Amino acid sequence: MNHDNEERQLLAEADRRALHYFDGIPGRPAFPPASAIAALQSLEHDIPAQGIPASEVLRRLDDIASPATVASNGPRYFGFVIGATLPAAAAAERLVLAWDQCASSFDNSPAADTLERIAGRWVCEVLGLPPESAVGFGTSATACTLACLSAARRKLLARKGWDFDGDGLVGAPEVRVVVSASCHITVKKALRILGFGMNRLIVAPTDVHGRVDPQQLPPLDDLTILCLQAGEVNTGEFDPFAELIPKAKAAGAWMHVDGAFGLWARASSSAHLAEGVELADSWTTDGHKWLNTPYDGAMAICRDADALANAMNSDAAYATASRDAQKNLTLEFSRRARGVAIWAALASLGRDGLREMIDRHIRQAGELAEALRAGGYQVLNRVVLNQVLVRADSDQQTQAIREAAQASGEVWFGPTLWQGRPAFRLSLSSWRTADADVRALSDLLLHLKRA
Ligand SMILES: *Cc1c(COP(=O)(O)O)cnc(C)c1O
Repeated sequence: MNHDNEERQLLAEADRRALHYFDGIPGRPAFPPASAIAALQSLEHDIPAQGIPASEVLRRLDDIASPATVASNGPRYFGFVIGATLPAAAAAERLVLAWDQCASSFDNSPAADTLERIAGRWVCEVLGLPPESAVGFGTSATACTLACLSAARRKLLARKGWDFDGDGLVGAPEVRVVVSASCHITVKKALRILGFGMNRLIVAPTDVHGRVDPQQLPPLDDLTILCLQAGEVNTGEFDPFAELIPKAKAAGAWMHVDGAFGLWARASSSAHLAEGVELADSWTTDGHKWLNTPYDGAMAICRDADALANAMNSDAAYATASRDAQKNLTLEFSRRARGVAIWAALASLGRDGLREMIDRHIRQAGELAEALRAGGYQVLNRVVLNQVLVRADSDQQTQAIREAAQASGEVWFGPTLWQGRPAFRLSLSSWRTADADVRALSDLLLHLKRA
């Protein structure tokens, strides 16, 4: 058997095992049983002195690790907003792996560069964002927020004549940041890494739905970055962009929007929820959540394409590229062609398919809320999007029901604190979730409440 043949056999075996895993998804517990988790211990040994044959590596991986996976690629995982992976995106990802492109620029990969450009254009189209925007495909909303906020600060300072690249921050005019009181922890993380001290953040108070209250918006000026939110993690609500952004614009502030999952409402029949969001300066969103593409695929979108390109430029004498090459729009220099799966998802769904998927999750969330209310649960949010926040009669009952639901293996969802008290948070975001799966969830929760 020659070497090439061995490699082919190994890849075929990996595909066979992947298909076997895929076939088992419907019957897989939503969270792995304790026995499968305990079995992971057998992987805990030192690096072998002599390599293990690749076929054996694959066998161990599948036999030991596959049973300990979370079935988030299945229909009954309602935790966080994780999404599954669409068939076209999963298939594209396999091909991308065979290509093994360094997708930093056209010169490194004409195919990846072209596909990611198209994907960027399509993303702006379906989200109704300015077509002139730069779109960088980064690893996560966290990384993309970091890229956008560094572009924002650099641009505000440049307008004041400050050379950020040359002189850094010592002696620079202070750029202030206003964040929503319910801003996501990863926005704070990005700000912290960039050197915006947490004690210096200015917090914009929110209303009962978790939206920034325009009446209480702190003063803004032309050295302020305002971070708004499309899709609050608990309630799924949107800041009132149409009211807030013109105010911020008039003051000369930079507006960034964290739309990790919620921005996809723009592609749905509920686009009105995010009315005015297109007026912002920069946006981040994930493919790996509501668009149902594989990890890790996210987007930094910046209206002023040069602002992002200037902040993220990494041209070197041996590696120059166009200003809008992906290595000049993201944190990565060498990078995989992560935008290709996003291209594939959008191509296979089309505008209509995307709208249908997002609409379906929003409808399912509303129906779930209704069923739970009828069964004696308190639904704590208005359920405008894909999030349902739920509480039983007491904190103890809320917690006991969540634990019993998790232990059943039939579904999985996580806890949260809402206004200081425990609740659970049900998210609809997997393209695989059919109405029958949502009914199974509400039936289980109603049964547990009666029990
Ligand atoms: C998940 C999430 C993030 C972080 O996204 P990552 O891709 O996990 O880094 C930021 N903001 C909101 C609202 C989120 O839901």
